[in-house]
Amino acid sequence: MGLTIRNVSKKYANGVQALNNVTLDIPPGMYGLLGPNGAGKSTLMRTLATLQEPDGGQIFLGDIDVVSQKEAVRQTLGYLPQEFGVYPKASAEELLDYFAVLKGITNRALRKATTEALLKQTNLWDKRKQKLGGFSGGMKQRFGVAVALLGNPRLLIVDEPTAGLDPAERVRFLNLLSELGENSVVILSTHIVEDVSELCTNMAIINRGQILLEAQPLEAVASL
Ligand code: ADP
Ligand code: ADP
Repeated sequence: MGLTIRNVSKKYANGVQALNNVTLDIPPGMYGLLGPNGAGKSTLMRTLATLQEPDGGQIFLGDIDVVSQKEAVRQTLGYLPQEFGVYPKASAEELLDYFAVLKGITNRALRKATTEALLKQTNLWDKRKQKLGGFSGGMKQRFGVAVALLGNPRLLIVDEPTAGLDPAERVRFLNLLSELGENSVVILSTHIVEDVSELCTNMAIINRGQILLEAQPLEAVASL
């Protein structure tokens, strides 16, 4: 159940061609989208997250048309934007519970079990009573992953997640991503080569809105 992107283009009103005929086949597992600042990564991520529409092209998640069936995609989408803002006065436990309600997990017992599992998975269980305003950048990003994973999304989009993290937090965050299920599509957008080479099974390089290369970094390394 992968993601198919065909000839997707996007030109902004200021004339910038942010995506130029992008075609990609993204299988389940960890997929890295690598490129420098301004390459078009966020534009592609926001397009996949149904936050903006392409000028042309097709995007399919399995048999869901991502461009025209927005509601269906959103039901099975987890999106961690570049800077995940949190309400600082809520505790991790409270805010995750709140997002779970918004996701439609209305059964209290199920919600309790779901949020407990996610707080443990993201290594925040011991911190669950603390206010989010006091969280470090890495803790906020891990909390963002917990929110993004509510409802077991088939597509998880993670946009430049390690940008503001110190080295120790970065490793902890990447380890967390690497443990996510092989059944869903996880797309990690980054300008850091190591983010991709360390944990993605497939990758593409994007520059000036165009795909320059598709590769399998782990296999490439293993075959050396
Ligand atoms: P990134 O780090 O992904 O390149 P930016 O910091 O460039 O993101 O952009 C931050 C926000 O500003 C985004 O929401 C983006 O859509 C918007 N933005 C970026 N470049 C422009 C631009 N040239 N004109 C208008 N909005 C822009
Ligand atoms: P990346 O995430 O790889 O840094 P972006 O997708 O943010 O790249 O940006 C790609 C190009 O599109 C850049 O030149 C950026 O300035 C421009 N851009 C991004 N968002 C907007 C926007 N909302 N309006 C106009 N230009 C934008």
